[in-house]
Amino acid sequence: MSKIRVATCSLAGCFGCHMSFLDLDERIADLVELIEFDRSPLTDIKIVDAAGVDIGLIEGGVCNAENVHTLREFRSRCRILVAVGACALTGGVPALRNRIPLQECFAEAYLQGAGIEAPQVPNDPELPLLLDRVYPLHEVVRIDHVLPGCPPPADAFWELLTALLAGREPDLDYALRRFD
Ligand code: SF4
Repeated sequence: MSKIRVATCSLAGCFGCHMSFLDLDERIADLVELIEFDRSPLTDIKIVDAAGVDIGLIEGGVCNAENVHTLREFRSRCRILVAVGACALTGGVPALRNRIPLQECFAEAYLQGAGIEAPQVPNDPELPLLLDRVYPLHEVVRIDHVLPGCPPPADAFWELLTALLAGREPDLDYALRRFD
């Protein structure tokens, strides 16, 4: 029987959701009997195979033009796309900047903040352009499932993946929705 193909990706996040996934510990050995990882920091594969994957897990919000490109490409190659964690669902911690005009953020970070000795806003053309605010994933692409939490606990990843593999709706009860 061919394995279910899974890809994972991070945008504007902290990789904490990926770390929580690794908290599955020995259950990862059970999972790899059923799934095969494609693009993921876990495999160091950078691009989803052109044939696509069955399930894509993506953490982080959308803060710059590169995130938009990555998210749209990831969406196009994942049959089921899961937004993982508060940053993906709402913008999360990176979206704290949404209440402050971008120019004020630049000024504080690069021109006037404490300890700045050579004030200059980085403008290398290689740098991705920042968006006016940090967007949740569903404002850019269609999302099929969500995994709330910061980060979602390992048991939530387990419930989500085993449910999708079994073809049923995930049952993410209160205990699996953790924000701490
Ligand atoms: Fe990190 Fe929390 Fe965002 Fe996940 S939801 S990427 S753990 S800040």
